[in-house]
Amino acid sequence: MAIRQIVKEGDPVLTKKCRPVEKFDARLAQLLDDMAETLHLANGVGLAAPQVGILRRAVIVDVGEGVIELINPKIIAFSGEQESLEGCLSCPGEWGITRRPDYVKVKAQDRNGNEFTVDGRELLAKAFCHELDHLDGIIYKQKAIRMLTPKEIEELG
Ligand code: ZN
Repeated sequence: MAIRQIVKEGDPVLTKKCRPVEKFDARLAQLLDDMAETLHLANGVGLAAPQVGILRRAVIVDVGEGVIELINPKIIAFSGEQESLEGCLSCPGEWGITRRPDYVKVKAQDRNGNEFTVDGRELLAKAFCHELDHLDGIIYKQKAIRMLTPKEIEELG
């Protein structure tokens, strides 16, 4: 496994629409392993392939219950609403308030190409939405109700 560099906001790779993953091979497995290591080192809850410079529809999410790998994911159901704090490893030091569904169900493939569904509430639902947006070139800041001021960020600790 290896740490990959996380692309920062301003890099055009983060504004592009990703292509589907077609090959479920050793290279994909390597990418996912590297993304998990990179995510854990950065103490994040999710990472999308474009954030490490790969324009393919692959994301990982880990809200503290283990890594969930989502290949070619699609949101197939959602409900409710949550308004909460959101940040992104590609936008270090910044935080915003977003409005997201409180429940999200995702259909995806695993690293071997097998289809499955997974659902989540609260933080997990938010993470699914945030990471899937990256695959369409969207950063949460574009959807934020507002961004926190430097003083508010300081108060977060
Ligand atoms: Zn992000």
